[in-house]
Amino acid sequence: MRDVNTTILVVEDEPAIRELIGVNLRHAGYEPVFAGDAASARRQIDATLPDLVLLDWMLPDAPGIELARRLRAEARTRGLPIIMLTARAQEADRLSGFEVGADDYVTKPFSPRELLARVKALLRRASPASTEDAVEIGGLRLDPKTYRVAGDGQVVNLSPTEFKLLHFMMKHPDRVHSRARLLDGVWGDHVFIEERTVDVHIRRLRLALQPTGHDRLVETVRGGGYRFVPA
Ligand code: CA
Repeated sequence: MRDVNTTILVVEDEPAIRELIGVNLRHAGYEPVFAGDAASARRQIDATLPDLVLLDWMLPDAPGIELARRLRAEARTRGLPIIMLTARAQEADRLSGFEVGADDYVTKPFSPRELLARVKALLRRASPASTEDAVEIGGLRLDPKTYRVAGDGQVVNLSPTEFKLLHFMMKHPDRVHSRARLLDGVWGDHVFIEERTVDVHIRRLRLALQPTGHDRLVETVRGGGYRFVPA
């Protein structure tokens, strides 16, 4: 998606990194806007919703994950694609980034090529498949046109990645999907994505489906992958 109207909010307090990201985004045809801390990021998002947020973990006023958590909790911003940027490479940190709702994760120092590949892949994943029909299985309804999921009429909040993952599985029910196949079908360009990432998003998807009991529809197949099983 090379589109001058695609706005990417870069939340980063280090001027050199902000500059590097900005130059690369502009070069790829995106329109970067910048915030140096969580509070000003919040103000900008409240004023105009960007198409994607690159969110640094360590900000001067609040942790980036706190902002991610709040964005996911609110109706207006729950579908906002978020990529966390961080100098931390610890597995635990990566997982907590995903747990609060980040769609992806890039560790500093990163190559501009890798960052752009991830931005492109996430934008593709998050763009609504507006021509597709709603699917309803076992009381769980997913509508690609309105970007809504409901379990027995109750709204289910999903990030763009979990939405796409659920949609893919609901379109191909009763089949075992390996992690590699899910990466192909959901992430698309997954050259930088590890297979374990699938497990993290499946876990988040199940958590979101738990209140209505629809998590039982997402089955783990030992040694195989995952299967969406109509109730
Ligand atoms: Ca920082």
